[in-house]
Amino acid sequence: VGEVRVAMTADRAEKPQRRLIAVGSGKGGVGKSTLSANLAVALARLGKKVGLVDADIYGPSQPRLLATEGQKPTARDKKLVPVQSPWGVPVLSMGHIIEPGQAIAWRGPMAGNALSQLVDADWGDAEVLLLDLPPGTGDVQLTMLQRFKPAGAVIVSTPQDLALMDATRAIQLFEQSEVPVIGMVENMAGYACPHCGEISDPFGQGGAEAAARSMGHAFLGRVPLDLEIRKASDAGEPPAAGEGPQAEAFASIARQVAT
Ligand code: ADP
Repeated sequence: VGEVRVAMTADRAEKPQRRLIAVGSGKGGVGKSTLSANLAVALARLGKKVGLVDADIYGPSQPRLLATEGQKPTARDKKLVPVQSPWGVPVLSMGHIIEPGQAIAWRGPMAGNALSQLVDADWGDAEVLLLDLPPGTGDVQLTMLQRFKPAGAVIVSTPQDLALMDATRAIQLFEQSEVPVIGMVENMAGYACPHCGEISDPFGQGGAEAAARSMGHAFLGRVPLDLEIRKASDAGEPPAAGEGPQAEAFASIARQVAT
């Protein structure tokens, strides 16, 4: 018994304090992966040691977003060693493991086990691990939340009513899993004119903020629909790494998540 206890203490001592933060959305295409990548970069700029797990098995986009396409993780002591992105964020994605363009019909348990290896990887001294969840509220998400009990969750939504209804479902999933909701981000909020930068609101304004508040959660901020964000993201240059209003929008969200 004594030996076991010593082993357990040693094990605990070796485990660094690490906050796992999930980024979720009620449906796909709302910018969850874009926010995850930029939040990671913004946290790194705040001096946090941060890693990113791309758990979006249906459309892993972090290799592209963080410019690590074609890289393969190595292994050490039976654990995966994350790929280093040029933006100071180590990252692991199914996209690093499967061939580009390869479609995988993951069944629940298989997906859960594959994703667990990404989370249980050798994250070194990372203080924060962001978990870019698959969109929606299915089995895989539930398994991940139950297995890893994130310290908090950020929910991304667009301003449209339908997306908000989906976002509400995502919030309920976190609440049921007893994962504290850090707050909600409204993405593609207003359209930034590529010529003058003026922001107009084709879908109205304030929907996500009102939805967050009505559920008793914080509103972390809005990111406009901006052609520059799409172009930079596709080029593997996260806007959060640059200067200007987009970078500041992500930095402001990161400051609230970091505390
Ligand atoms: P999700 O992870 O929710 O499926 P993505 O992050 O992949 O969504 O974003 C979907 C598409 O929208 C991508 O092409 C991305 O570049 C683009 N996008 C995301 N957020 C913005 C934004 N604020 N402005 C412009 N384009 C955006």
